[in-house]
Amino acid sequence: MRELLILIVFILFLTIIFPITLIKGYDIIWSGNEQDDINQKYEVGEVDEDYMVNIYDTKAKKVITMEFDEYIKGVVAAEVPGGFEIEAIKAQAVAARSFSIYRLKKYSDGHPDHPQAALCNSIHCQAFLSKDELRDIKGRNWMYEYWPKIEEAVESTKGEVLTYDGKVIEPLFHSTSGGMTENSEDVFVSALPYLRAVDSPYESESPKLNTVLELNAEEFIKKLKGEYPSTNLTVDNLDKKIVVMERSEGGKIIKVMIDNVVATGREIRSIFALNSTNFKISMTDDKKKIKITTIGNGHGVGMSQWGANGMAENGSSYNDILKHYYTGVEINKVY
Ligand SMILES: [Zn+2]
Repeated sequence: MRELLILIVFILFLTIIFPITLIKGYDIIWSGNEQDDINQKYEVGEVDEDYMVNIYDTKAKKVITMEFDEYIKGVVAAEVPGGFEIEAIKAQAVAARSFSIYRLKKYSDGHPDHPQAALCNSIHCQAFLSKDELRDIKGRNWMYEYWPKIEEAVESTKGEVLTYDGKVIEPLFHSTSGGMTENSEDVFVSALPYLRAVDSPYESESPKLNTVLELNAEEFIKKLKGEYPSTNLTVDNLDKKIVVMERSEGGKIIKVMIDNVVATGREIRSIFALNSTNFKISMTDDKKKIKITTIGNGHGVGMSQWGANGMAENGSSYNDILKHYYTGVEINKVY
């Protein structure tokens, strides 16, 4: 059936004032304009391979302690499929190690959201699964086939971190960008020189490159009105009342006008539980159904994990991958 185009796409978000609470639901939290206020210079030996790290277990509500590299292995195993190319897994290992060291230093007295430790084991910080959890969730075959790859990725990049200007960076990452990543300021608060929008051409194998959500037009309107009560929306005026105002360089919706209200792409993402803020809304000719087509998965800032895997399949090393997604960085060893 031919469909009527109601609206068009959008993208991300981010202004200066709302963010933190909105951001909390998903993705990684970024609590402010802090990139300048901490010295992230690391000396060799400050963190070493025997370093023990405390992680706050958000389910058991207690702190668990383990060797740093064991922690990194559990993060990598939780973050990317074991079937990924080894170079993509190595890129994830270096990114996860950098992220961890950055936060361990920055939140040495505990993260404001979990003062028990600088890092937690949920997506609030970085997903982490212990070997026991991996065995339960993924099974013995997975452990046999893929755990050695995870170990190899972490051990062959031992001590390697990403630096910019000599400081360890906070390398955000996400599942699938939808073709182009985002400038950090379009999604979070700060404009960081190493988190620039870059192309991400090899994501075709991502299971969430394109997602379609279908719902009744009445239900769609009800949800929007629930969030924006002053709007006057009907199935007959929808196509004129929803207008995209601003998109990011990476193509995601930043602002959209809904009748008399300016909403953010991130708010719309949250209302309909979309994978990203790069979406398109259309209505069927009979005006009964609304279709929301979403491109990509995640906030879109930094490395695209599926894009990294696609680059690896096309011959790129983990070094190439990291330098592609993190503008102007170097890889240095801290232990
Ligand atoms: Zn956390």
